[in-house]
Amino acid sequence: MERVPAVEGLFTEEGGAKLLGSKCATCGTVYFPKSASCHSPKCDESKIGDFGFGGKGTLWSYSIQDFPPPPPHKFDKPYEIYALGVVDFPAGVRVMGQMSIDNLEDLKVGSEVELVIEPLYHEDDKEFTSWKFKQL
Ligand SMILES: [Zn+2]
Repeated sequence: MERVPAVEGLFTEEGGAKLLGSKCATCGTVYFPKSASCHSPKCDESKIGDFGFGGKGTLWSYSIQDFPPPPPHKFDKPYEIYALGVVDFPAGVRVMGQMSIDNLEDLKVGSEVELVIEPLYHEDDKEFTSWKFKQL
């Protein structure tokens, strides 16, 4: 089955799972998704460049999506309850994403998680992928 990103340009699987963001060379502020300029009020000069990051982070918070999200969200039927996690990465950015976990009761704020790229839904004989967080 063909494996394609659910949204282009937000992440890559080449050389390991990475989110594609931006970083300001002047102040070090990291942005995800990419930003065309630096928005930090403390920054003297916006010098934005591409910045990929991934690996491990810390689960800051999560919520349980216990009802099917409205369009344009897509999911495989029948709907399965999942958790949305908010993860702090050492690069200094906080990112939201679906949790990859078998038992939602095992979720624990403060846990170490790892960025992974996994199937999000299937359509037209294709597997659409997105980033998720796997609790370690
Ligand atoms: Zn800056």
